[in-house]
Amino acid sequence: MRLLLVEDDPMIGESVRAGLQQDGFAVDWVQDGRAAELALQTNAYDTLLLDLGLPRKAGLDVLAALRRRGDSIPVLILTARDAVADRVKGLDAGADDYLVKPFDLEELAARVRALLRRKSGSADPVIQVGGLILNPATHEVTLDGRQVSLSAREFALIHALAARPGVVYSRAQLEEKLYGWGQEVESNTVEVYVHSLRRKLGANVIQNVRGVGYMVPKQP
Ligand code: CA
Repeated sequence: MRLLLVEDDPMIGESVRAGLQQDGFAVDWVQDGRAAELALQTNAYDTLLLDLGLPRKAGLDVLAALRRRGDSIPVLILTARDAVADRVKGLDAGADDYLVKPFDLEELAARVRALLRRKSGSADPVIQVGGLILNPATHEVTLDGRQVSLSAREFALIHALAARPGVVYSRAQLEEKLYGWGQEVESNTVEVYVHSLRRKLGANVIQNVRGVGYMVPKQP
């Protein structure tokens, strides 16, 4: 899952990015409101983490413009302002959740997972497709009751596909979910992970849709 982090405080930005990357998210980080708008218009993100006090364009204005465009991306506000009025303004401008700084990175990751669940239309914290069960909080995977050990990127790939069974993702879309800016993507990286996932989870877990991409098929 790919996140856009908008935060002008370098220490907070760096620690949030590092923490979420360790949790298996691909994270792009920008430090002002205009860079955020540019990134949102040129990339597909699963969630936006938005500071309110930002140079060049305030977080609330970025949010308002985003919603005016009809963009329904989940938005979590990160703010030092603990005044009730600011939180209310943020939520009323279209945010889905907020965290007041300083916050705990584990709580942030849990709130992001909750937003991603709601975005995919499921309240269940566990993703189940047939005999395959994924837990995004613990990265535990079982297939027909048997535990399977996956690397962080293998988990990220099967998570992206299994969250929306029957939906076909192109190789480029999957690369976007696996890598943030500045992370080197090797040319056949998605094929390599698909190959290892099929070896661990069975050949039929991921279907190749010729000329289009990959999907986890819907189970009857
Ligand atoms: Ca700030």
